Amino acid sequence: MKLSLLTDYLESLAPLAYQEDYDNAGLIVGKPDQEVFQALISLDCTEAVVDEAIANNCQVIISHHPIVFRGLKKFNGKTYVERVVEKAIRHNVALYAIHTNLDNVLMGVNARICETLGLINTRILAPKQHLLKKLVTYVPVAQAEQVRNALFHAGAGNIGNYSEASFNAEGSGTFKANEYADPYVGEPGIRHTENEVRIEVIYPANLESKILMALVLAHPYEEVAYDLYNLTNPNQQVGSGMIGELEFPLNEEFYLGVIKEKMKAHVIRHTALTGRHVKKVAVCGGAGGFLLKQAIAAGADIFITADYKYHEFFDAENKILIADIGHYESEQFTQQFLYEIIRKKFATFAVRLTEINTNPVKYYI
Ligand SMILES: [Zn+2]
Repeated sequence: MKLSLLTDYLESLAPLAYQEDYDNAGLIVGKPDQEVFQALISLDCTEAVVDEAIANNCQVIISHHPIVFRGLKKFNGKTYVERVVEKAIRHNVALYAIHTNLDNVLMGVNARICETLGLINTRILAPKQHLLKKLVTYVPVAQAEQVRNALFHAGAGNIGNYSEASFNAEGSGTFKANEYADPYVGEPGIRHTENEVRIEVIYPANLESKILMALVLAHPYEEVAYDLYNLTNPNQQVGSGMIGELEFPLNEEFYLGVIKEKMKAHVIRHTALTGRHVKKVAVCGGAGGFLLKQAIAAGADIFITADYKYHEFFDAENKILIADIGHYESEQFTQQFLYEIIRKKFATFAVRLTEINTNPVKYYI
């Protein structure tokens, strides 16, 4: 199938607009319209993974971490990043990354960690702001339903577990068409009053052009009147980290053992035990230190993440137990997750999980 079919699906689950500023998720090497017959899934895109793709006739590698983060100025094979990109281009292997955009969605990296740890009542720990907008438009009463339907179909009106959410109020709109106009109702040169419905819907900012297109197509007027509002409401469906609960409170030392086993961690670096039981658990796959304040504010007893530095451990202040389980370990189930969703969506498309453990960190025990 066309590569874009695959990437469009992944981006419908984890829109590129949800990635962090520093990130470089998306199609890094390759063309959207190239044909792909098999995909290789991995956490990292290393030279060994590209070799594995070539050996197994995979035309695209879908990795969690992007191989390229910054601008590359030279391609002389001095760094592994240059070599990976060069090899991929030479062998016509596309490279695609689904990174912080997948971290930031409800059914992504952190959901998989919560699932692995058996957490319940989970939600996003730090919902993102400025991702939602509001559209207000004015439609003749008879066409209100068709316009609402078009807006919902284009992705407007979703709030949490509710879809097709809108507010509707009737009123009268006025307009006077000039001689160049071809008004849907009324006569040019005469002010017309029409019974209209003011429709209000919320929508994700990244769908704006699609929603406006749907509005204009469904609306009967030659000139469609609408207002767009920026909202500061956090989007509860999108953001960093997750928090959930254990079914029963557990002794914290015992729970560290549970995490070690379930997350296949070689070692857990943690702060001093607090002496309290663990009930609320905050998680963030990869480097999650920036979320500590939110984890404490949300009442988490433990914060499971990775890439903690020495001085950052002091910030626990006996308010929370910080558990650093390793970056690779915290995200290792992500590749399985990607494998499963692609298999489920494209039943006849070949997809393969890497057999390479790309963790660059080794443990001498
Ligand atoms: Zn990561």
